[in-house]
Amino acid sequence: MTQADTSQTDAKRLTENADTNRETSTPEPPKTWAEVKVSTRKASIPEGLWLSCPGCEKMIFRKQMEANLHVCPQCEHHFRIGARERINQLMDDGAFEPLFTNLRCADPLNFVDRRPYPDRLKAEQERTGENEGAQAGVGFIKGRRVALCCLDLTFFMGSMGSVVGETLTRTIEHAAERDLPLVVISCSGGARMQESTLSLMQMAKTSAALARYDDAGGLFISVLTDPTTGGVTASFAMLGDVILAEPKALIGFAGPRVIKQTIRQDLPEGFQRSEYLQHTGMVDRVVHRAELRNEIARLIDYAGK
Ligand SMILES: [Zn+2]
Repeated sequence: MTQADTSQTDAKRLTENADTNRETSTPEPPKTWAEVKVSTRKASIPEGLWLSCPGCEKMIFRKQMEANLHVCPQCEHHFRIGARERINQLMDDGAFEPLFTNLRCADPLNFVDRRPYPDRLKAEQERTGENEGAQAGVGFIKGRRVALCCLDLTFFMGSMGSVVGETLTRTIEHAAERDLPLVVISCSGGARMQESTLSLMQMAKTSAALARYDDAGGLFISVLTDPTTGGVTASFAMLGDVILAEPKALIGFAGPRVIKQTIRQDLPEGFQRSEYLQHTGMVDRVVHRAELRNEIARLIDYAGK
């Protein structure tokens, strides 16, 4: 039975249920936990012409915000964006050649939580139109040729599964072979728990590839965006020769609430935000989204790449 058939049958069943309810007016049985669907709408930008900015809490015109690189024109709040939008913003027009788009994960653990992992993956692919949580390729930034890998927050919260790790590793190796500067845009909720150890393994694999790239004299520019957390922070994201961050991005290993509960102390103002991390030396520079292309091009020139 195809997907379309299934949904038709579902729709039919729902209509039948509705009719029965009307006739007998029996109340619906209470939902079990397995039937409760968690809404993902909070994380994404709500639909509509206007939206409320989380930074200044004012209503802003969506088109104006989008034309402004998805930054609030009132308060400079940087909205979260997907990998495709990021590539459009960063790369010179028509100069991006995607690589490693045929990688798929195998689910050797046969992982099942509320749903089997392959079902979740398929649903996510249908929802986003993307194959996985990272997009890589080569192209130009202000005329400088680079290898680029972008994590995609819209896909499984940008979690690092085996395909994300493999895409990044191949991009690093591609950059090393061709002596290209490497730019990685990180945004991630951390490891992908459905892949367990295979997900954690990506931390070591990507770090090892970066060490070889470094030995070969490569330039690695790591850009951290909101949020960069978990295994991504604990591996490649923090290994940049230069680490840039977008304003007010959440960057850390565990979230602030977990840390607060563990150490039972109040956290300093701006804890785990880009500006705080620049102050404490974890981040080299906080860069506004509109300046990112200039900054990357300048760094490549400084490094003589
Ligand atoms: Zn705002």
